[in-house]
Amino acid sequence: MNAVTMIEREKRFCAHNYSPLPVVLVRGEGVWAIGSDGTRYLDMMSAYSAVSHGHVHPRIRSAAVAQIDKLSVISRAFYSQPLGEFLEALCRITGFDGALPMNSGAEAVETAIKAARRWGYRVKGIAPDQAEIVVADSNFHGRTSTIVGFSSEPAYRADFGPFCGGFKQAGFGDIESFRQVINANTCAVLIEPIQGEAGIRVPPAGFLRELRALCDQTGTLLILDEIQSGLGRTGKWFAFEHEEIRPDAVILGKALGGGIMPVSAFVARRELIDQFNPGSHGSTFGGNPLAAAVGLEALKVLEEEGLIENSARQGEYLKQRLNTFKCPAIREVRGRGLWIGIELDRPAKPYCEALLQEGVLTRETHENVLRIAPPLSITRDELEWGLERIIKVLGS
Ligand SMILES: *Cc1c(COP(=O)(O)O)cnc(C)c1O
Repeated sequence: MNAVTMIEREKRFCAHNYSPLPVVLVRGEGVWAIGSDGTRYLDMMSAYSAVSHGHVHPRIRSAAVAQIDKLSVISRAFYSQPLGEFLEALCRITGFDGALPMNSGAEAVETAIKAARRWGYRVKGIAPDQAEIVVADSNFHGRTSTIVGFSSEPAYRADFGPFCGGFKQAGFGDIESFRQVINANTCAVLIEPIQGEAGIRVPPAGFLRELRALCDQTGTLLILDEIQSGLGRTGKWFAFEHEEIRPDAVILGKALGGGIMPVSAFVARRELIDQFNPGSHGSTFGGNPLAAAVGLEALKVLEEEGLIENSARQGEYLKQRLNTFKCPAIREVRGRGLWIGIELDRPAKPYCEALLQEGVLTRETHENVLRIAPPLSITRDELEWGLERIIKVLGS
């Protein structure tokens, strides 16, 4: 079956909630994705950071296959060996006390919302049903109806209401606006340390530190959504390390699944994790032995293969090269580590289509931002190969 027929079939039977570029991918090898006609594409998008380890990482694949041969799904009605080992590693790496495993990122965000509200009532003493969570404008935390209800993006919300109350918005990077909306009923601030879907928006230096101080002064939890920014994407394990702060909890997903399957988690201080008791929350697949084995190996590979250091090193080089490249269409090059947004003065989609013809996969975010976020395992030669093509396409 040729690519056109496969594309037509998917279009006919799948809901049109995405608009994919016209290529059918059939295989992956590290930073490369192979099309149905055998063309090799450099993946500079990494499935929004879910493929930070590269495609079909041999160690993660082996861990998955070994676990599949033993046991995959048992539900949390019973104990398993991999889950404790995985969450022990996750707690060691994040510096937190406990975790609640989920599958998708949105589910882990929902878990954080529940934990924050219970903490608000049971520890902070907020009156019943009055708890508020403060979020940032232009946020992206997933697609459930609760989450899109506190988004500022019309496309995410249109005709999906009525929405869940208890959320307030402040300006991303604007500490004064947070000061204004936080009140005695605020249980938490939920924020991305760098906004990915909004166009790789990096807040002003010092913002997170000021936000931490404000949360401390007001007795408010600071919960960071590091689903996309975490696990090495910004050149450190977590984006919050760039400002040397400690949040009260962190939400992880995407790369936690090692490019193989959905694995997410809410990871927090003891006081927050202990808000959950049997019956209060759950997920049939969350924390299953296969997911735990994959998640553990994903963490070990990041640690043992130096992927985080590589993200910092190659990311610095990438940014510097893009910054010295003079192109009238470029307004700004920003980002941290291997997570770069090139803001253009015009729509970015035609450039993504041109890059596809050149053998580079990426997508625009927010109309006019070109996202460059390859797997963290990318070598200097591979990066050079991609850069040549990006520069060619942007310069033409
Ligand atoms: C992708 C993403 C989510 C949602 O994750 P899903 O696995 O798609 O549900 C939430 N927050 C951030 C910051 C993300 O990038």
